[in-house]
Amino acid sequence: MTADPAQASPGDLPKRFASRQALETLLTTAFPDAEGSLSSVQGGRKAAERQLRQMDAKRYGRSRNHLAGAVTRLSPYIRHGVLTLAEVRDAVFQQLKDRQLQRDDGSKLINELGWRDFWQRMWDDLGDGIHDDQEEMKTGHDAASYSRELPDDIREGRTGLTCMDRFRDELVSSGWLHNHARMWMAGYLVHWRRVHWKAGADWFLEHLLDGDPSSNHLSWQWVASSFSHKPYFFNRGNLERYSDGRYCKVCSSAEQCPFEGSYDQLENQLFAPQPAIRTNSNRRTNKTRDRGRGGANAALARPKR
Ligand SMILES: Cc1cc2nc3c(=O)[nH]c(=O)nc-3n(C[C@H](O)[C@H](O)[C@H](O)COP(=O)(O)OP(=O)(O)OC[C@H]3O[C@@H](n4cnc5c(N)ncnc54)[C@H](O)[C@@H]3O)c2cc1C
Repeated sequence: MTADPAQASPGDLPKRFASRQALETLLTTAFPDAEGSLSSVQGGRKAAERQLRQMDAKRYGRSRNHLAGAVTRLSPYIRHGVLTLAEVRDAVFQQLKDRQLQRDDGSKLINELGWRDFWQRMWDDLGDGIHDDQEEMKTGHDAASYSRELPDDIREGRTGLTCMDRFRDELVSSGWLHNHARMWMAGYLVHWRRVHWKAGADWFLEHLLDGDPSSNHLSWQWVASSFSHKPYFFNRGNLERYSDGRYCKVCSSAEQCPFEGSYDQLENQLFAPQPAIRTNSNRRTNKTRDRGRGGANAALARPKR
């Protein structure tokens, strides 16, 4: 007699539910220590296909840096293999054809799919090395001067900065964050709070539904500058512009905003004077140079955001 694959074995969790409420009830009972409610992101192939149909490659290219932009939100499905990168790429080309658009209209989105592939290949190349600083920081600060602990106010979303607290809430409750929000949070944690990128990266992985060690750790290292030729940082003008000012308008710390200032002012405030920040000096540790495979060189080419 062959086993019915739909039939649960003893100890298995059920696979079918009458409603999402029923799923939530089961999870609350099975995992009483887990905090929060169910993410609004739905799993499965049908939900993935629905999300893929929402994709608008041309609008994506024009708006992807804006929180309200036409980003695809496909990352959880790609991460878990529900959609392949090739499928998404083909869907982009099909859309260009159907809408009689130019190839260039899809190039931004195709580029970003390429970054996912690139980080995966870097992981294959570097192995567990992705957990370690790939190069020395170009901030003028010693790696040992960065705290290894995630501060409680960040973990609990009570920094008093509306932007950061809302990003934290979204991360924890939905398991997804816009790329720009990830960059701002990482920049704030590493450069303003002087916390080592690994503490932030590990925390992101606790919550992200698309959590992937390569995209995550290497992006954190790119922000920190241990995997890029200069640190990523931002100012209030940048955050206001790409968030349509939604946080600053209601922020009780708006008068003492730590992100206020020109890039030159913030650079002087955050980083110790050293030539590497403004120039393309590509200083690398022996560890990286000795690896001799050229992978880290490619990371230096990550486009400016
Ligand atoms: C600090 C930090 C941590 C990150 N951690 C992760 C992570 O754990 N898992 C993850 O999948 N992505 C990660 N990213 C990359 C990126 O933020 C997400 O892939 C993207 O925001 C997912 O949303 P989306 O599907 O709407 O992306 P879109 O912008 O619509 O892009 C389409 C797809 O392209 C890929 N992609 C887009 N941008 C990037 C990028 N910068 N790097 C690599 N792939 C990209 C993703 O697979 C994404 O689903 C991180 C970025 C930063 C700055």
